[in-house]
Amino acid sequence: MNKIEHIGIAVKSLEESNELFRKLLGKVHYKIEEVATEGVNTSFFKVGENKVELLEATREDSAIAKFIEKRGEGVHHIAFAVDDIEAEMKRLADEGFRLLNDTPKRGADNKLVCFIHPKTANGVLVELCQEITVDGKRETRDESEE
Ligand code: ZN
Repeated sequence: MNKIEHIGIAVKSLEESNELFRKLLGKVHYKIEEVATEGVNTSFFKVGENKVELLEATREDSAIAKFIEKRGEGVHHIAFAVDDIEAEMKRLADEGFRLLNDTPKRGADNKLVCFIHPKTANGVLVELCQEITVDGKRETRDESEE
């Protein structure tokens, strides 16, 4: 694994939390993106090399809605950047970690992602993410880079 790519934080209202994190971090989010398959709306803030991802549920059966119901708002997952997600998934499965998906799936912010069950990782939901690239270049550009 390379670095912490982002920290995911479950929030009740993306609108309110975008404002809260704008005050906290002293900068505005650089993108908002819905991941319909996961039932979440996300927003991203850059903090140096790393990012903060805010997650708001768009459906009652979304994992974020269930998380907030059980534990309230707060840190939801830690995401690590990897170069080869399939190799990393195999390595972790061989080490005894339980993967929540068998094949990488499309996540927010132009990433292929896989989650590791928190029960096998000291209660921490871990996300692996690999940048999706086309010919070695980023497939889409961040709004802040335009
Ligand atoms: Zn994430």
